[in-house]
Amino acid sequence: MKLKSLLDITKLLKQLDKAEVYEDEDGNKTQTVYLGDIRSITPSGKVYTPFACSNLTPCPRCNGTTQIENKHYKKKKWMKIHNKRKVLFLNAINQCGHFVHWPEKIHQKINKLLKQENHWTQWLICPECIGLGSLEARLDQDFWKQLGSELDTIEAWHHSSEGDGCQVMVSRGVEICTQT
Ligand SMILES: [Zn+2]
Repeated sequence: MKLKSLLDITKLLKQLDKAEVYEDEDGNKTQTVYLGDIRSITPSGKVYTPFACSNLTPCPRCNGTTQIENKHYKKKKWMKIHNKRKVLFLNAINQCGHFVHWPEKIHQKINKLLKQENHWTQWLICPECIGLGSLEARLDQDFWKQLGSELDTIEAWHHSSEGDGCQVMVSRGVEICTQT
């Protein structure tokens, strides 16, 4: 889903230009402006961590379980491919060690089996909330992703305030002129 632009980049750049330059102990210089309170700028308007989102409304499709039953589920087919992949995986570890040392061919074989396995598996990641268990969480995730990519265009980033962490700040690095 493509959202409309979240930020007024021109306005934000003007604010950043005017912001005081802050230098940390490592000599990194940044400018920071206040974007808003998490509770007023995110789609859900809720504060939570990815691992403790009990205050979110569960996804209507998967009921918050993050998974849905796969209508293609075939236990025997799944088991056969799953075991085949497991053997291939264990052999690769025995022969080549860590997966970064595996030949490309083995990666391709395993990925192919994984795809087949996912076709016959019993549970699928819920496509509605993409496994987050909540639509609110998904909308929030889209929001943060888009905010990040809009800020990327001006080489800035967002972070939360110290303290309660509910205030969203935007910072950018200040180039240090080292011309001699
Ligand atoms: Zn869901």
